[in-house]
Amino acid sequence: MSLLVVGSVAFDAIETPFGKTDKIVGGAATYIGLSASYFHKPVNLVAVVGGDFPQKDIDLLIHHGVNTAGLQIKKDEKTFFWSGRYHNDMNSRDTLVTELNVLGDFDPIIPEAYQNTEYLMLGNLSPQVQRTVIERLKNRPKLIVMDTMNFWMEIALDELKKTISMVDVLSINDEEARQLSGEYSLVKAAKKILAMGPKYLIVKKGEHGALLFNNEQVFFAPALPLEDVFDPTGAGDTFAGGFIGYIAQTRDISFANMKRAIIHGSAMASYCVEKFGTERLLNLTPDAIEDRVQDFVELVQFEIPLK
Ligand code: AMP
Repeated sequence: MSLLVVGSVAFDAIETPFGKTDKIVGGAATYIGLSASYFHKPVNLVAVVGGDFPQKDIDLLIHHGVNTAGLQIKKDEKTFFWSGRYHNDMNSRDTLVTELNVLGDFDPIIPEAYQNTEYLMLGNLSPQVQRTVIERLKNRPKLIVMDTMNFWMEIALDELKKTISMVDVLSINDEEARQLSGEYSLVKAAKKILAMGPKYLIVKKGEHGALLFNNEQVFFAPALPLEDVFDPTGAGDTFAGGFIGYIAQTRDISFANMKRAIIHGSAMASYCVEKFGTERLLNLTPDAIEDRVQDFVELVQFEIPLK
């Protein structure tokens, strides 16, 4: 059984009402890889960084069970850089800077040992690169999950739609679902997006939880009310990492198991936001994750008779 993750590995500069960071390590694949590694190892990574990316951070990924055989290092180029500022509600943010750098002409090479992957997580990066990864796999994985963002809807909508038509699960936030579908109602948006090809749609709603749609059913998982939210960056990717990691661990792609995967993804995301960047994801334990999952179960348990 194997899990392949592709996505950005980045430097991020983040501003929240609680503080500001200089360039710290981030990127969709970094968050996904760390999060998924708590459920399934190895996490086979396909990504690219520049010569400015610290070896110690690559070592950290390896230490967590991320296989970096597919991580290209472009010595003379710069790592992808993203900067964002959160509003006071911490639920919405503005992108201040996106410098694609090495991502601009990224050619995702799949090491032979990554072939026959069963689970593929296409983290946020150019939809063309995401599609190339699918096309370069000799056998179609059992489940392809894709995450994307408004940036790609604005500059590469046609490419994005082509890639969306090839995946099983699309994971985006509520604002992006509205932008992609042109519908305000998330139910109508889901119908339109499912008609584009995916069998499942996950709509992330930040502190308001996440929805899972297929053509017949809908499932809602809340987010855990937290005392301290320092930095929501990477929460969506951490969620996706927990989701695909749990599916790879349990090897079950039924709707019922996807519901469990959503709860595990939400538990991971609830940890991610407690500290800046990836910090909180570096030293979790299976017990701590299980405790959070239990918190979710208790949060939604109705013990009052409803009739
Ligand atoms: P999230 O908060 O889950 O939406 O993810 C934030 C992460 O996405 C940051 O670590 C960024 O480095 C990364 N990111 C932001 N914009 C892009 C982009 N256009 N392509 C790929 N990754 C991006």
